[in-house]
Amino acid sequence: ANFTELGLISPLLARLAELGYQQPTPIQAQAIPSVLAGRDLIAGANTGSGKTATFALPILQQIFVQQQAEKPLSSKSSKGNYVAGLILVPTRELAKQVADSIKSYAVHFNGVIKTVAVFGGVSANTQMLALRGGTDILVATPGRLLDLISSNAIKLDRVKTLVLDEADRMLSLGFTAELSELLALTPSSKQTLLFSATFPEQVQALTQELLNNPVEIQV
Ligand code: AMP
Repeated sequence: ANFTELGLISPLLARLAELGYQQPTPIQAQAIPSVLAGRDLIAGANTGSGKTATFALPILQQIFVQQQAEKPLSSKSSKGNYVAGLILVPTRELAKQVADSIKSYAVHFNGVIKTVAVFGGVSANTQMLALRGGTDILVATPGRLLDLISSNAIKLDRVKTLVLDEADRMLSLGFTAELSELLALTPSSKQTLLFSATFPEQVQALTQELLNNPVEIQV
């Protein structure tokens, strides 16, 4: 398969060509059409598989298409401190890396999609400022995100797509309680994508609880 056959739109296809991505990786080829169609997903995938693009490209496309369909009068400011695409990751390094990838994939959307990364270990003030007016995509570590929700810097009630990236690492780092708190704040109607290198019991329990008739892919 090539990227065009997966259903991706031209601003993304142009960027993938510029980045020298000649063809989808196996996980991209198997998962992107289902994710674009709105299905939930469980993917067994390691770093290096191309998992980031597997969730980033469909999320960008869904948000862009949605924005084009909205009336010009419904400006972002009317939506307050919303987020549409939420990506939870275990570490600050991964948060930065995923946000950078998303911003890179989005360059031909001409700045209409806002992406913010929030993580612990640095002052929350800059992150709170970045979240003013909401954000289309938020990449976050669980603890800092809960802090920002407590300060009313962001709300999760408009999340359309939720990604748990490296779910096994998030749970093994002790984020289980934070995750359940966060998940309870998201709408039940959302699309959920779960990526994990391994599937210990804790991860299986999470997938049972969270995913609705998911597509399952192991690469
Ligand atoms: P990831 O597994 O998401 O951490 O991605 C691993 C690396 O592969 C990143 O540097 C990506 O930029 C790169 N990559 C992802 N998809 C493709 C592709 N289809 N063709 C070439 N490189 C890719």
